[in-house]
Order: sequence, then C-alpha cells, then structure tokens
Amino acid sequence: MAQIIDGKKWSGISREETKGVVDSLHKQGVRPGLVVILIGEHPASMSYVRGKDKAATAAGLYSEMIHLPSSTTESALLQLIDRLNGDDRFHGILVQLPLPSHMNEKAIIHAIAPHKDVDGFHPVNVGALDLGLSGFVPCTPLGVMKLLTYESIEVAGKHAVVIGRSNIVGKPMVQLLLRHNATVTICHSKTQDLPNITRQADLLIAAIGKPNVITGNMIKPGATVIDVGINRVNGKLCGDVDFASASQVAQYITPVPGGVGPMTIAMLLQNTVDAAMKLAH
Ligand code: NDP
Repeated sequence: MAQIIDGKKWSGISREETKGVVDSLHKQGVRPGLVVILIGEHPASMSYVRGKDKAATAAGLYSEMIHLPSSTTESALLQLIDRLNGDDRFHGILVQLPLPSHMNEKAIIHAIAPHKDVDGFHPVNVGALDLGLSGFVPCTPLGVMKLLTYESIEVAGKHAVVIGRSNIVGKPMVQLLLRHNATVTICHSKTQDLPNITRQADLLIAAIGKPNVITGNMIKPGATVIDVGINRVNGKLCGDVDFASASQVAQYITPVPGGVGPMTIAMLLQNTVDAAMKLAH
C-alpha cells in the first residue's frame, strides 16, 4: 500500500515558513500584498479565490479581492490591471481563470507587469523558466516540486512522465523536472500506447483533467504518482488517477482532494512574498 503524500500537512508547513518571512518583512516596514481579480460567478473560481484571500490574510499579507460582473469589458479590466501595476500596496496580481468568453485571456495575462505576475503565466516569466533564469514559476508545478522536496523523493536521474502539456501545468512541470535533472517524457491526448509509457515512469505526474484515466495496471511498482487533476464525479472531487488501484502499486501517491491542490495556494503566497522581497532588497 502506497504512502500518502499529505498535501494539507505540507501546505500548512510551507505557509508557516512563508509567514516567518512575512514577519521579518514587516519588521523592515514591508507588507507583501496580493490582489486577486475575479470576473463573473463561476462557483469553483469563487471558492478558489476565497481560499486564496483567506490564506493570504492568515500568512500576514495584505490581501484584496476584486469581484467584477461577467459583463465587465476587456478594456475595463485592462485599465484596472494597469492601475494595479502601479499600486505599491500590491506585489502580486492574479486574475482568476477562466475568463468570460468575450475576453482575450492572452491580452489580459500579458497586461500584468511581469514582476507582479505571481501566477508565472506572463511570457517573460515563461521564457525565464525555459532559459533557467529567475522569475515566477506557475504555482501548481512549483507545489509539486515542493512536495517532492518535503518528502525527500529523489528526482535527479529518474524517468519522469508528465501527462498533459498545458501552459499552466504540463509544460512548466516539464521545465522544473528538467531543471532538477530528471529524464522527462511528455504525453498528451495524441500519445499512442499511453500505458506502455506510464509503466516506465519512476515519477508519474497526471495533469489531464479527466477522471480515473490512470489505473494501477499503468503504474510501475514502486513509482511515485502525483495526481494534479481535479474532477467532479457525481458531486464528488476526484483526480485523474484511480486512487484505489494505483495506491496498491505505487510507493508514494497524492490524494485528491488534499494532495497537490493545497500546495498551489501555498506557492501563490510564496511567490507573492518573493515579489515583495525582490522589491525590498
Ligand atoms: P488542460 O485541459 O489545459 O490540459 C490537459 C492536458 O491533458 C492536455 O495537454 C491534453 O492533451 C491532455 N489529455 C487530455 N486527455 C488525455 C488522455 N486521454 N490521455 C493523455 N493526455 C490527455 O488542463 P490543465 O493542464 O489546465 O489542468 C489539468 C488538470 O489539473 C485539470 O483537472 C485541472 O482542474 C487540474 N488543475 C489542478 C490544479 C491544482 O491546484 N491542483 C491547478 C491547475 C489545474 P492535448 O494537449 O493533446 O489536448
């Protein structure tokens, strides 16, 4: 039976570490600030944004949430971002995705000043990650790396298989694994014979967005399985991995909920505090 990687526990520890840095910044007269913009009434987004606001406040950050109606125009949002780019109270700006269909997601992301882009989605930060330069790294893959570090799971020299190639999870995950000297294979919806590839993985990361695609017979015995997926089946949250069968074969596994999800918020706080520190020094 696999050892469960407790994302809730590690996220609490990470948030405490961040709070320690925030306390020392307070002593220097700096209060890290985060503003989260939410457009519309998407229920999951509303719950994520509330979670982020609560966690930021608990860590001692100055946190503001701006909730705008779904009828907000793209130019009004761009003007707001422009104003927030110049507002010294905020070191981090996050626009909650997905945006209403009348808005151009790229234009909105590109409008955020790269030094306040704590989601790490701006091309400047994406380019920095690709080139191995410092910049903001997207919170979910950063959280996965942090979990592996906390659990002392070796990455260097291991065969990591990432399923999913999105800009938010899959691609930055690949870059981080390469940075940590893993040998990386990337799979996606056009990959042929997925089980043959996943069975070679020492470290299997599923970021697919479809329930129970990965089953125990697709996993190498003793592998580490990280389930990034968040799916809702009959009102219940589940990941991309069939936990019951996978946990019989893997050595380590993350549950859903309570695995990668809580780390994403913890990394958002860390990125925001890093942004404030960069300005303070
Ligand atoms: P996307 O839909 O952008 O990407 C999904 C990826 O999975 C695509 O690359 C797609 O391939 C690939 N894929 C789809 N079906 C299959 C299949 N049957 N076999 C192999 N590959 C497949 O999703 P995201 O990357 O944004 O998110 C992935 C999941 O992670 C979602 O469930 C999302 O909710 C969750 N998530 C969780 C977070 C957290 O905090 N825990 C944060 C962000 C996301 P192709 O490119 O060919 O279409």
